[in-house]
Amino acid sequence: MTTARQFVVPAACRGSDLGEAELDALAVLVRSSGPLSGGDSRQTFERRFAEYVGARHALTVTSGTVALEIAIGLLELRAGDEVVVTPQTYQATVQPLLDLPVTVRFCDVDPDTLNMDPDALAGLLTDRTRAVVLVHYGGGPADMTAITALAHGVGAVVIEDCAHALGAERDGRRPGAMADISCFSFHGSKNITTLGEGGMITVDRDDWADRVDRRRSNDVDAEIDALPLTPDGAALPAALPWMKFAAHAYRHDYGRVRRAGTNATMSEAAAAVGIVQLAKLDTLVDRRRRIAAHLDAVLAEFVEVRPARVPPGVRHAYHLHTFFVPPPGARDALVRALDRRDVEIALRYFPQHLMPEWRRHRPGHGPGECPVAERIWFGEHMNLPCHPGLSDTQVEHLGDALRAGLREVLAGRHDEGAMPCPTSM
Ligand SMILES: *Cc1c(COP(=O)(O)O)cnc(C)c1O
Repeated sequence: MTTARQFVVPAACRGSDLGEAELDALAVLVRSSGPLSGGDSRQTFERRFAEYVGARHALTVTSGTVALEIAIGLLELRAGDEVVVTPQTYQATVQPLLDLPVTVRFCDVDPDTLNMDPDALAGLLTDRTRAVVLVHYGGGPADMTAITALAHGVGAVVIEDCAHALGAERDGRRPGAMADISCFSFHGSKNITTLGEGGMITVDRDDWADRVDRRRSNDVDAEIDALPLTPDGAALPAALPWMKFAAHAYRHDYGRVRRAGTNATMSEAAAAVGIVQLAKLDTLVDRRRRIAAHLDAVLAEFVEVRPARVPPGVRHAYHLHTFFVPPPGARDALVRALDRRDVEIALRYFPQHLMPEWRRHRPGHGPGECPVAERIWFGEHMNLPCHPGLSDTQVEHLGDALRAGLREVLAGRHDEGAMPCPTSM
């Protein structure tokens, strides 16, 4: 095995910062004799999270991917249904759709924010569109006023993937309360973490909250009238009178399973850490904003660089720091120049409609479907490390490396081979 290269500035090791407060919360839990699952920590984390984002219900799950699976499952999509999705995201946003008999339409993005472009969306909606699934790319909330108006106009549900956007705002609203169903990730690289893996779904509708709750815990219906009958056909609570009084958790064993559920409940340990992390969220996101401001100041020295747009009314969470380097070949040269200066670059994300699984999907997807997303990713798209794990010294190194790298490549020394463009792949 080769050992991983140590960068002075890693792309992202941890997205958050963990310390004494998280250790204390874990110590309290370990020393208590309370439950390790389904206890107070989970409820408290959910209640505070719902309050923070401004949603009626928040339900913890084990990952952002599971949150998206459950959210899409709520819609009970059928053959012939259509779903419009963003291509500029991580696989997990669209993966739950791969095995469904639906038609997926990739919607092009705004070239300055990389969020779903409402004008492109308008051209894709039909009377068969059941859902629009989008991401708040990098932590900058999409134009949800325009997008939800369009989607609701054809009766489609809007699902927002808020994996990057916890801590952001747009016009006084927070991701988690900007769509019909919202999904969060607490993976170790995200704005807060529940010790490496975790997720949340927020919804306003009581019936959806109930269905999410059932689905994440084996979809068991523990109501007394849903209990099975005895071999003689008698109602179980009548045959076993103690069942009327048994604890909910125990009755669960006898409940009717209505459909294939799963166990995606969050552990008390994860939730206890989540409570502490949520209290730190604003500090963690402020740190991201300060790093982004430092990098933006360097970028402002270069007229050739196109900064990402932060629309008025947006408080960006800077899960990713993004900008654009349009001169031909300059983006690729900059990646190499920063690599030589010990800055690790991860370009996020390869347009999903060009991934092999979606090219093979019916109907086929491929180049030309989202020209803006393709042009930006192959020609201009740049991300820099931007996370609270970076020390002041690392941020300074990053800014200096960025300035030196841009000077080098924009002075015309970017003649090494460029990435292949999608049509030639
Ligand atoms: C991280 C991420 C996910 C998946 O979250 P997990 O908790 O890792 O399953 C989904 N969508 C986006 C945009 C992400 O960045």
